[in-house]
Amino acid sequence: MVKLIAGNWKMHGTSADLGEVRAIAARAGELGGRVEVALCVPATLIHRAAEAVPGFTIGAQDMHANEKGAHTGDLCASMLHDAGAGIVIVGHSERREAHGEADADVKAKAEAGLRAGLKVILCVGESLAEREAGRAVATVAAQVDASLPQGPVDGARFSLAYEPIWAIGTGRVAGCEDIEEMHAAIRARLVAAYGEAGRGVRILYGGSVKPGNAAEIFATPEVGGALVGGASLTAADFLPIVEAGA
Ligand code: PGA
Repeated sequence: MVKLIAGNWKMHGTSADLGEVRAIAARAGELGGRVEVALCVPATLIHRAAEAVPGFTIGAQDMHANEKGAHTGDLCASMLHDAGAGIVIVGHSERREAHGEADADVKAKAEAGLRAGLKVILCVGESLAEREAGRAVATVAAQVDASLPQGPVDGARFSLAYEPIWAIGTGRVAGCEDIEEMHAAIRARLVAAYGEAGRGVRILYGGSVKPGNAAEIFATPEVGGALVGGASLTAADFLPIVEAGA
């Protein structure tokens, strides 16, 4: 399966950074169908970025589960789609923690995103305390079970991202054995939920993915790509990761 490499710019980036978007999109275009690439930029940049790089997938980092209504400051899937987004991240640990998003909220967002025609990357991951207590796999399996969208799902449009919270932005990366163990556990939950179609859902790894460790992570069984934060902000950092996945 072609790997999906998605950048998550978080709260970084203004129109001054559109040059990075252009450089990333240009190289992704050259790599053709060997790798799928997306950049999830701040909502304020979606429209301009999408216009700057037609044919390249610009994405959002969150969305409201409802289709419209009295939700000051929120954006729904059809608005993101209208702005030019082709993909959306839901359930990132920074949203779960800072905005109190529970599995049921994440599930509703994933379902609404897919309904609106967006591709969806759904994030799960354990805290350091949960890993040290030996509960990493149980925690993530429970998150997966409770946040997966109602099937059937299409693996071309729906992906999961395993992001151990302690590895995000810290420079600490999960060991390949830990990634392999967790991805296998997630795969089992996907198959339990969706049957054979669950084998077609890509499981991305996220958490301090860098040019120097991407190839090793991508060689790990069941790793279907990466969700990349800090190292996606510049073409110089992100493109070697994209190329490692091609
Ligand atoms: P990081 O972030 O690559 O900066 O660790 C990954 C993420 O939070 O998606």
